[in-house]
Amino acid sequence: MSTRRLLIAGAFLLPFAPLSIAEVRVSVEHRPDGSAFEFKSVPAPANNDAATKAEFTLVDGERDRNGGQLAVLHDGRVPTDEDEPAESYFFRAGTDGGRLQIDLGSVIAVKQVSTYSWHANTRAPQVYRLHAADGTANGFSAAPRKGTDPASCGWKLVASVDTRPKDGDGGGQHGVAVFDPASGVLGHYRYLLFDILRTEDRDAFGNTFYSEIDVIDVNGPAPTAATAGDGEPVVRSFEAAGGKYRFTLEATAAPDLMEWADTNLRPVVQEWYPKLVAMLPSEGFQAATNLSLRFRNDLGGTPASTSGGRVNMNSGWFRREREREALGSVVHELVHVVQNYGRARRANPNATRTPGWLVEGMADYIRWFLYEPETKGAEITERNLARAKYDASYRITGNFLNWVVQNHDQEIVRKLNAAAREGRYAEQLWREWTGKTLPEVGEEWKKANEDRINAARPKVDQEKTDVSAK
Ligand SMILES: [Zn+2]
Repeated sequence: MSTRRLLIAGAFLLPFAPLSIAEVRVSVEHRPDGSAFEFKSVPAPANNDAATKAEFTLVDGERDRNGGQLAVLHDGRVPTDEDEPAESYFFRAGTDGGRLQIDLGSVIAVKQVSTYSWHANTRAPQVYRLHAADGTANGFSAAPRKGTDPASCGWKLVASVDTRPKDGDGGGQHGVAVFDPASGVLGHYRYLLFDILRTEDRDAFGNTFYSEIDVIDVNGPAPTAATAGDGEPVVRSFEAAGGKYRFTLEATAAPDLMEWADTNLRPVVQEWYPKLVAMLPSEGFQAATNLSLRFRNDLGGTPASTSGGRVNMNSGWFRREREREALGSVVHELVHVVQNYGRARRANPNATRTPGWLVEGMADYIRWFLYEPETKGAEITERNLARAKYDASYRITGNFLNWVVQNHDQEIVRKLNAAAREGRYAEQLWREWTGKTLPEVGEEWKKANEDRINAARPKVDQEKTDVSAK
């Protein structure tokens, strides 16, 4: 599916210029499954355009610290993934966009302005107004904040852009080109001002992940394409369940890990992904059939993460853990791919949010008790008993869920998953399925662990008493 729209703006902004009526055209293209910033009506991102050396300034709004600096918008590099915060610029979660100014250094004949973005869902589309100025108008303000109409201080509105599709959340790659097909010159400008809005306010994550902004100079060099990735691609593909599921394994960022991954990780994925899908069904749900597993060097302290059907693996951590925790961590991430709880909230604004401790606890229950029970990696012992709270997340919640499976309801994980995926998780369900409130089941589990640990303690005090009594 691809949506294209043409908007005309600016035609009536020049009151007395019948011989040079600007006809600004905005080409918009959306590639839901795009991965290479290849569009039909929008040129590929460039790395030698006039924006490359321009000065970018945040005029209003706040950068999200999880994302890159303004430099990522004109470094001639595009992200290689739909969820690559470090390679994207976006405004802080919960805020409504902001304003960015570009100073090209001098007035140039601007041929075209292009913007590119990429995300899995609502942070992909672009909503902004583009203003431009040569900086010579009386009362020109180079940095008008929100609340000041740029038209009142020497700017001209060039285009209004809104790439949100009518249906769906717009996930994928978006490319926008603003140009004047008739004259070939958009205008003579030194400054550009992007007045950027968020795409939605249903949750805090409506600010677009912008990948790159290009400004093409009529008199500049022929554009050369921006680069993506870390070098020669190191990729292998494989299938599972007789071709029903397809995987790409990418080790471009860590070629030394490919052999280990192909030998050790691939069979685990081939065996376990279909198992997880079968284990966690819900009505009408189809789990992702195309997945990617990618080594990355930019995950900081996070061992692995998941976004949609993409599993990111921290190269450094996997190198250290390949004989220990690496395979289990991928099973955990594959559970997240199958869970897919974000979809309920995207489809239904009234969907309930499943608490994070439960989402992680389910993934760790499956990992530690079904995938690798022999490692006993999620036991409650004397050492961690004090921290044993049902909502302590990860392994501890995993242990709690295992106990509930054994003592109350063998189907509880399947049922919790279906409720969470359909956006109808509620604490009340625990009562329905176990006859007790969630805190009561939690207490029961904790007590059972205390009793077991106490029973196993050597009865030193008892023996002493017996000895002294003799
Ligand atoms: Zn997790």
